[in-house]
Amino acid sequence: MKVHEHQAKDILARYGVAVQKGVVATTVEGAVAAAKQLNAETGAELFVVKAQIHAGGRGKGGGVKLARSYDDVAEKADAILGMMLKTPQTGPEGQLVRSVLIADAVDIEKEFYLGITLDRGTNMTVIMASTEGGVEIETVAEENPDLILKEWIDPKIGLQGFQARRLAFGLGFEGNAFKNAVKFIMALYHAYEQSDCSIAEINPLTLTKSGQVLAIDAKLNLDDNALFRHKDLATLRDTHEEDALEVEASEHHLNYVKLDGNVGCMVNGAGLAMATMDIIKIAGGEPANFLDVGGGANATTVEAGFRIILKDPEVKAILVNIFGGIVRCDRVAKGVVEAANKVHINIPLIVRLQGTNAEEGKQILDESGLKVETAILFQEAADKVTQALAS
Ligand code: GDP
Ligand code: MN
Repeated sequence: MKVHEHQAKDILARYGVAVQKGVVATTVEGAVAAAKQLNAETGAELFVVKAQIHAGGRGKGGGVKLARSYDDVAEKADAILGMMLKTPQTGPEGQLVRSVLIADAVDIEKEFYLGITLDRGTNMTVIMASTEGGVEIETVAEENPDLILKEWIDPKIGLQGFQARRLAFGLGFEGNAFKNAVKFIMALYHAYEQSDCSIAEINPLTLTKSGQVLAIDAKLNLDDNALFRHKDLATLRDTHEEDALEVEASEHHLNYVKLDGNVGCMVNGAGLAMATMDIIKIAGGEPANFLDVGGGANATTVEAGFRIILKDPEVKAILVNIFGGIVRCDRVAKGVVEAANKVHINIPLIVRLQGTNAEEGKQILDESGLKVETAILFQEAADKVTQALAS
């Protein structure tokens, strides 16, 4: 789950990470009030008005603007609130801005990059740091990989002081700023670990003219599978920022990812779902989605799956691919019949059942009176998808 920059900064501050001060607002008047509140608290006179959307690269798209007075704050907030902000990380149509963060502008001496994530190659957390801050780290990794410093953290003992010092030293911090940087790195790691993040990224991390080490941007991704133990963080979810179909799917505990193709698919098991997307491509189609209905493919989950797939206007055919292991194919077939009778499916439906009671399942579907193509072999299913797309 992603959170907004202002939420990420609030979380980080709780762990002692030094973050730029700011107040969030949803209206122009609110933005001015936020600036006045900041002025009262910190003496801030120069502000940054920042669009709050879940995508990065906002600065380039015109979603981050300096403001020199309250009138200027009002003007910039008016321009940013309600805009469809396009960045390299949004879709081509952009993302609607519903709130702005009014931040106490920082006098920047130098910008750095600091990121923490899981390195699946070593099964360890990795901290990455670079003097090339403010730039996309992917570009640095491609063009100047030597400029990225890395420390791997043994999960049994956590981040060690010498590792944080080695990073701060490698970034060129000196004196008091060095101490601040070490403290920052340690605090960020604790925030990452204790909030069960999958990503904590500060870009840019800034050294201010007065020697402070501050986050002026913050991105946190929280591990969905750990949210059950962070009830307070789970409430930060902003479904406006998520794909509507993905939100609906998650309400039914379906693992759904929207893609751009024309063949909807419904599969049990993530591995089989990946293989099914491959076979759709081989059959000449493009997967419209990833959908794992999980272990209990019953009439209710299948019905929810059909409804979600059919809401995507690009879908020209549906391939259901179920392996009956724990769940029996005849039960799944009954579920498909029940669901298909409730949901109006007016595009070709291909159902491939394999595993326990596959033949019985196929028979149930063949005799159901539904307009459905059945298959037992993977190749048969692919051929039927090809035929359906051609017709
Ligand atoms: P992003 O474009 O979505 O990554 O948004 P950021 O929060 O990283 O802001 C983009 C850029 O705006 C930063 O890289 C800075 O160069 C600039 N910026 C943001 N806040 C401040 C600030 O307080 N002071 C100054 N001088 N520049 C800022
Ligand atoms: Mn940034």
